[in-house]
Amino acid sequence: MPLTEEYLERPQQGISAMWGRYLESGEYSDFLVSCGDREFHVHRLVICPRSSYFRLMCKENFKEGITQRLDLVDEDPDVFQSVLTFLYTGIYETDKISGCAESENTLAEGSCGSSDDSENDEANQQHQGRPATTEDILAHVQMYASGDKFDIRDLKEVASKMFRNHLNRTPVDELDMPAIIRAVYTSTPHNDASLRPVLIEYCVQNLSMLLPQPEMAEVLSEFGECAFELLRSYKDEADLRSRKAVEDQRTAVLEIKKAESQQLRESLAKLQKRDTHLMEMLASHHNCRSCGKVFGSTPQVYGPMSDRVMLRCKGCYTKHS
Ligand SMILES: [Zn+2]
Repeated sequence: MPLTEEYLERPQQGISAMWGRYLESGEYSDFLVSCGDREFHVHRLVICPRSSYFRLMCKENFKEGITQRLDLVDEDPDVFQSVLTFLYTGIYETDKISGCAESENTLAEGSCGSSDDSENDEANQQHQGRPATTEDILAHVQMYASGDKFDIRDLKEVASKMFRNHLNRTPVDELDMPAIIRAVYTSTPHNDASLRPVLIEYCVQNLSMLLPQPEMAEVLSEFGECAFELLRSYKDEADLRSRKAVEDQRTAVLEIKKAESQQLRESLAKLQKRDTHLMEMLASHHNCRSCGKVFGSTPQVYGPMSDRVMLRCKGCYTKHS
């Protein structure tokens, strides 16, 4: 099975498909995990390297290490199946948990090589658009919680990325936000920096839709920590908005002052030009061009700010410009 044509063409996918088959068949399994009504025949070689939880459980001084069997009492079998699929193949799929088909092939064992990253970005671009359901988002919360419980760092990363993508592309009126808040605040530690900040930001953006819901009042009373974080984030947002308003006002005043001083500079230049012209005329006229008398004149401007000026003969009133 190992060196198939599939493997030779696309080594990484080939390996991930191969491990997926070992997970299905249980062949060469050396550890049993029982979860709900299901049993998973797993391989320590796969589950231990990326999970300190399984490493510990497989140690020989633990009961589980001796019996080579672990009973997971609080874990949903469908969620655990998805965790194993992720560990074995790098494929993140939550369709069995949420009942909606969508998977993310992360090929995580390549530890985020650059080519994988760009492929994932493209995949994310394609995923953009379809709004998620509450079930989709709750499935990511469950996957994240399992990643936290079993200490699988890259599973937590993918689950929180999917949580953010799905949440941010879904209109708030299509989601049961109280249920999502309850799930996140029940299953993440109080210092969580992945799901909680994303959730809080989304709630702040949609606060006017959320606050009138009676279930929101219930969930916020139940999770005081969430209410506090929501309030703090709302204040930060309001501070930012008012700082921006002050900044905008200052910019507008500066713009007006700039325009005014430009206008003044232009007027001054016009008046200077007019005065220069006047001085030139006074210097060049000795006799009136009409009556021929020695020039006696009054300078006359067209208006206080006009740049036009002329001389008028005192004898015959002929204009000279
Ligand atoms: Zn004259």
